[in-house]
Amino acid sequence: DKIREERLAYLESEPRIKAVTVCFTDLEGRLHMLDYDKKFLLKSYDNLTFDGSSIRGFSDQEESDLRLVIDWPAFYWLPSDIFGAGKVLVFCNVLGRDGTPYEGDMRGQLKAYLDHQFKKNGLTCYAANEIEGFLFKGRDAERRLSDAEGFEYVSIGGYYHSLPSDPLRLFMDAAAEAQRAMGFANEKDHPEVAPSQFEMNFEYSEALIAADQYQLYKLLCRQVAARMDMTASFLPKPVVGVNGSGAHTNLSISKKGKNIFFDKKGEDGISDVARDFIDRILNSAPDICLILNASVNAYRRLDPHYEAPNQIKVSPIDRGSMIRIPLGNERSARVEVRSVGPDANIYQTLFAIFKTGLEGPQSDPVDESKRTRTRYLPSNIHDAIRIYKGSAWTKEIFGERVHERFAELKAASADRCPKALGTRVKVAEVQYH
Ligand code: GLU
Ligand code: MG
Ligand code: MG
Repeated sequence: DKIREERLAYLESEPRIKAVTVCFTDLEGRLHMLDYDKKFLLKSYDNLTFDGSSIRGFSDQEESDLRLVIDWPAFYWLPSDIFGAGKVLVFCNVLGRDGTPYEGDMRGQLKAYLDHQFKKNGLTCYAANEIEGFLFKGRDAERRLSDAEGFEYVSIGGYYHSLPSDPLRLFMDAAAEAQRAMGFANEKDHPEVAPSQFEMNFEYSEALIAADQYQLYKLLCRQVAARMDMTASFLPKPVVGVNGSGAHTNLSISKKGKNIFFDKKGEDGISDVARDFIDRILNSAPDICLILNASVNAYRRLDPHYEAPNQIKVSPIDRGSMIRIPLGNERSARVEVRSVGPDANIYQTLFAIFKTGLEGPQSDPVDESKRTRTRYLPSNIHDAIRIYKGSAWTKEIFGERVHERFAELKAASADRCPKALGTRVKVAEVQYH
């Protein structure tokens, strides 16, 4: 409440701010934004409603009136050269008519789960997301797909390699500057392995903040690219024959300020708690795969020949394993889940991963075959949907209604893409987010 009062006072007293962009995320991970005039918002911030019936995953008639509750700490300045003058952005949670958290709002679900873990067990969950993307010629590259030959690279420099005046470098410089202006803690950015591919890293933070920044990262990259007449694409596999884009998520948990995933004496420098967390995720990996890889295109990416994992295992080195244990110390010991596509709903993904790692069913110690045989993630969205639908665990995570609704959305997206996809991405695969 103190933070809310401070922000309200700031908005009131800062004449340069004219409007507030209030945002939330639909069940499929798209960011939605409404701009409120500042004067109007200051009067009515505690009574914001919207019609949810046209938002995917929020779409029952009875849900036509939903409430938006601003999460005041999640407050970002928008640099005017990129977003236009006079705006700030806030994230919000969605409530139903009756004022209880709306179950289709994964940000709210994630937040409630993190709060619960903190209150009950004193745990703070952290995440750092490494989001890869491609930069293509033309601001409407993803929409032109149906009649175009495919995407056009803006740059052919290789890994870590581009000239200072290369379009990819100029884009990353502008995007990094936007990040700094918005208060992201930038760490590094570089051209990735595939031509015209980039990755920009920012510091880890509490999982909810990390998820908000994941959404903002994609937004600002798209926005910066569009202003340069290019497209930043977060399709997991926009081009065949080269690496796709991942959104590896690095997780750690602390208790009383100590990273409980670290143990100097443990194998690979991680603790039993971390080992147990990994085991539970591996055990339910096929069940939650649809959450982490939520599009037809995501399954094109999962190919170990392109450093994208389809094997259900953990390894300190092998990039074909869905979980990697990066070299770490007391501060940086963490678990890296590599099998996440950049078009996943990150709130839902982090909720599913943390809940599974902390509370999911443990692997059956007598089922030796599970331990010795290599297990693979589903190779296409149809199998992933089938396994997800049959999973008691994913029902428990999300509740029957949201569980079912998500499956319906995914089945619809699979149906939009004809089975014989050929080798080129079709516009039906693009989700515009
Ligand atoms: N581009 C790879 C992927 O799809 C990852 C490469 C890397 O390890 O950074 O996951
Ligand atoms: Mg990378
Ligand atoms: Mg990584």
